[in-house]
Amino acid sequence: FLINLVSLMAIGGVAAEVARRVMNRQQHRDLEARARYLGKWVSALDDRANLQSLIPPLGAETETRITLISRSGQALADSHQDAAAMDNHLERPEVAEALEKGVGERMRFSQTLGRDMMYVALRLDDEPAGAAIVRVSLTKSYIDQSIGGIYRRIAWAVVIVFVAAAVAGVVISNWISRPLEVIRRGAERFARGDLDLVLPIPDSLELADLADTMNQMAAQLRDRIDTLLRERSEREAVFASMAEGVVAVDEDERVIVCNAAAAWLLGIAGKARGQKMEAVVADEDLRLFARRVLAGERDLNDEITLKREGKVLVRVSGRALRGAQGRDIGALIVLDDITRLRQLENIRRDFVSNVSHELRTPITSIKGFVETLLDGAMDNRDDLVRFLGIISKHVSRLGAIIDDLLSLSRIEQEIEDKHIHLTEGMVAPILESSVMACEVLARDRNVDVVLDTPERLRGRINPTLLEQAVVNLIDNAIKYSPSGGRVVITAREDSKEIIIEVRDQGRGIAEEFIPRLFERFYRVDQARSRELGGTGLGLAIVKHIVNAHGGRVTVESKEGEGSVFRIHLPR
Ligand code: ADP
Repeated sequence: FLINLVSLMAIGGVAAEVARRVMNRQQHRDLEARARYLGKWVSALDDRANLQSLIPPLGAETETRITLISRSGQALADSHQDAAAMDNHLERPEVAEALEKGVGERMRFSQTLGRDMMYVALRLDDEPAGAAIVRVSLTKSYIDQSIGGIYRRIAWAVVIVFVAAAVAGVVISNWISRPLEVIRRGAERFARGDLDLVLPIPDSLELADLADTMNQMAAQLRDRIDTLLRERSEREAVFASMAEGVVAVDEDERVIVCNAAAAWLLGIAGKARGQKMEAVVADEDLRLFARRVLAGERDLNDEITLKREGKVLVRVSGRALRGAQGRDIGALIVLDDITRLRQLENIRRDFVSNVSHELRTPITSIKGFVETLLDGAMDNRDDLVRFLGIISKHVSRLGAIIDDLLSLSRIEQEIEDKHIHLTEGMVAPILESSVMACEVLARDRNVDVVLDTPERLRGRINPTLLEQAVVNLIDNAIKYSPSGGRVVITAREDSKEIIIEVRDQGRGIAEEFIPRLFERFYRVDQARSRELGGTGLGLAIVKHIVNAHGGRVTVESKEGEGSVFRIHLPR
């Protein structure tokens, strides 16, 4: 609107000025032409003609003021004034100019009439009737009137053109801006992430291109974001399913990545991402480790004990984290829980030393007695028999240890190779034959063994192994019962499991020893166990067999009152 208005006004202004000038020139020429006609007309007059009476009607008819002036400047006749009363006109600029050049013209204030006038004066060389100058003039207001008419027309034209242009402008701008508005709103929705939106294609060619380009851009962005999201979820799935803990920190020690395993190891609850390491990692050693990696120590490896529901030993390895441009952007720390591995290593080491120890005791004894015999004791028959008896006992003990070790390793091997076959079978016959296997010992130690089991009890079992486990339990129960004691074996089932129970009234086991009972070679009372011919492997074998059945063993015991060992087998 403003541009329209300003340009129209400028054009209008220029047009008005041009019109004014053209009009002025036109008036000038017109006046000059009238003056010339008048000159001719006066020249044709009789010398005695009465000018003062001829001129006024002529002036009235032509709407022009006419003045005839003599060479001396005396007004001879005037159409609008009494010539006799007029002052000398020689000094009037147009008159002076006409006398000098033939034609003179001026736009000036008339002293005679008291108004602005346009004058044109013409020199008459033959001076008819004494008139040397004919001067015609028009009032400026008369000229202005006709110019005013043109001004008005120009003004109207400006107004009409402006209104028309304004209406056209509103219509066109609406036509352009409505689809633009639609595109703008679409762009806003794209910016908010609503990339499924498809912009309508407007009629205008340029806007159609724009909308089409934006639609393509949104589709590309959507694809790219989908790809990124998919890649991120794949990466997160990989991290989440890793057994190793992975923590990545940036150079400001802020956590970039922390997978579930790392969160568990470090005891981080909630979101760690974006947080400072100090805020989420309680372990000082690990923070120092991360700092060393960040400080530029490459490929660091260490073992750190974390305090986490008991101690967790982790092997940590640290690498510099490389950004896309190959620049270091932080540190990547991988945590590997080696607690179990270390425990297994320790168990193995302990086992070897335990076995050596177990074997060395009887061998040392045997060696001692053999040397004693060789040194002469065999000459004494009583000593010979006694010592050979002791040697035989130790040899049996060695045999028992080796038998137990072998069966333990066989069971372990079978479990490892998944060679243990479980078949659907009756439980009662197994318990019966177990009791039978322990009959001699029971009689020797004067212990009453009672079996109470429902006949129909069935389960998925390996009969040979299960019998061995039950025999071990009954064997212990008899061994640790006092003479005249009673051992009761029962079996029952509930909704989930079959429970085989061996109960004795023996010395019982103090609570602190119970957790270790099933370890190999573990005995509460070393001397007594040896004396009873125990190897310390019986319960370890039981545990392995029951595990191979997918079950568990539990112990309930009170010192001095007796113990209950239970085998729980899944139904
Ligand atoms: P051992 O050959 O010494 O009996 P086990 O592995 O069978 O070895 O048992 C480990 C230890 O558990 C035994 O040395 C004994 O101290 C204790 N124990 C096992 N069964 C009983 C029980 N019924 N009553 C008391 N103590 C028992």
